[in-house]
Amino acid sequence: MPVAPRGHEVGIIGAGIHGASAAFHLAARWGIKAAIFEQFAAAGGPTGRSSAICRAYYTNRYLARIAHTSLDMFRAFGELTVGRDCGYRQTGIVYLHDGADAAALREAARYMNSIGTRIEVLGPEDIAGAFPLFAPEGIGVAGWEPDAGYADPVTTTAGLLARAGELGAEQRLYTRVTGLDERPGGGARLHLVGGETAECERLLIAAGPWTKALAAMLGADLPLTVERHYVATIRWSHAREMRYAHADIPGGYYCKPEGDDLYCLGPLTPEPEVDPDEPVRALDDEESHQLASLATTRIPRWKDAVSTGGWASLYDVSPDWMPVIGEIAPGVFVDAGTSGHGFKLAPALGAEVAALLIGDEVDAGIREFTPDRFGSGRQLAAGYGQAKILG
Ligand SMILES: Cc1cc2nc3c(=O)[nH]c(=O)nc-3n(C[C@H](O)[C@H](O)[C@H](O)COP(=O)(O)OP(=O)(O)OC[C@H]3O[C@@H](n4cnc5c(N)ncnc54)[C@H](O)[C@@H]3O)c2cc1C
Repeated sequence: MPVAPRGHEVGIIGAGIHGASAAFHLAARWGIKAAIFEQFAAAGGPTGRSSAICRAYYTNRYLARIAHTSLDMFRAFGELTVGRDCGYRQTGIVYLHDGADAAALREAARYMNSIGTRIEVLGPEDIAGAFPLFAPEGIGVAGWEPDAGYADPVTTTAGLLARAGELGAEQRLYTRVTGLDERPGGGARLHLVGGETAECERLLIAAGPWTKALAAMLGADLPLTVERHYVATIRWSHAREMRYAHADIPGGYYCKPEGDDLYCLGPLTPEPEVDPDEPVRALDDEESHQLASLATTRIPRWKDAVSTGGWASLYDVSPDWMPVIGEIAPGVFVDAGTSGHGFKLAPALGAEVAALLIGDEVDAGIREFTPDRFGSGRQLAAGYGQAKILG
């Protein structure tokens, strides 16, 4: 005899940081107990491999506001989640730019300062005085964000999810969604591994690199692609001299401190497309060497730093490198395409996505991230030159 599907008011596919945050806000603000379907563990996809740099340095004004609120949430995480730790460490980040970015940077900095994000714009002499380790070639201007830092992506995700669970959300970990059908009246019927089905009146697909394939099951064609990105780690015995992070836009890489004497390095530029269903190729020596060589060109004293390994994972990328958020079928929404900069947005963005999902009030700015912008010439500007990842 067929078993009647379990019914849920709201379902979420994906327990990465975006799904976890939406579940947290649905429970904490609206008392809605979502069911979260995740094929692995919480943060078992790209979220768990994230460098998790948390900054509010954005050219897009909506994301600048969201990132600013997210940073407040990282700082107040224990209180918000009743005792959990997101591992937030404030280090400050300096963004090194070509002089050609000066006007755009000054305009972005004016806006960020007006909403409470402290950004100092530095000229070549200030940079040399405050950051003497950097070789000056190619740097005309810099932005310094003293309140930025990084978090632990796994404990952040687990903390939001655990609090959502305490408030009644249902975590279905190791439960892969294998099929989706439209549900009369809105939402979707989910086919789960093992043959079970579940009905959701509203569904959020926050499945990162696998979002495109899930959306296609409901007839939506999202222009998302997937790139393999990597992080190389180095150890430097004088790491105490440099505890801040930096993004070298002309050099094409970013760097954040990790622990007491390590740094994580990653590219700021696009990488080749891959199939998310294939195993992710590990970081190789050539990639590690290339990042280390970019970094030692900028910081000559790092010549005695030692490579200590690294890893690779996936970015789900949209054509303008900005998130893709909105309704794709009646009662079915996506939040994906975060293109390598979505970790720090998620704590605050999850509240907006949750509101959109249940039809509550949102900041109108979220609507510019609609999935249909690509077909109608409304792509968004992002970042600086090739470094669209800066948003
Ligand atoms: C190497 C690297 C470095 C990064 N550095 C930064 C950074 O410094 N700062 C920053 O802000 N961002 C950074 N990012 C980007 C950031 O990590 C991502 O934007 C963010 O983690 C995306 O979260 P998500 O929840 O949307 O997706 P994901 O983490 O991809 O989560 C989606 C989840 O959905 C699950 N899923 C998919 N399909 C199914 C299915 N059919 N059934 C059930 N479950 C399913 C997956 O298993 C996965 O756990 C980085 C990313 C990487 C890879």
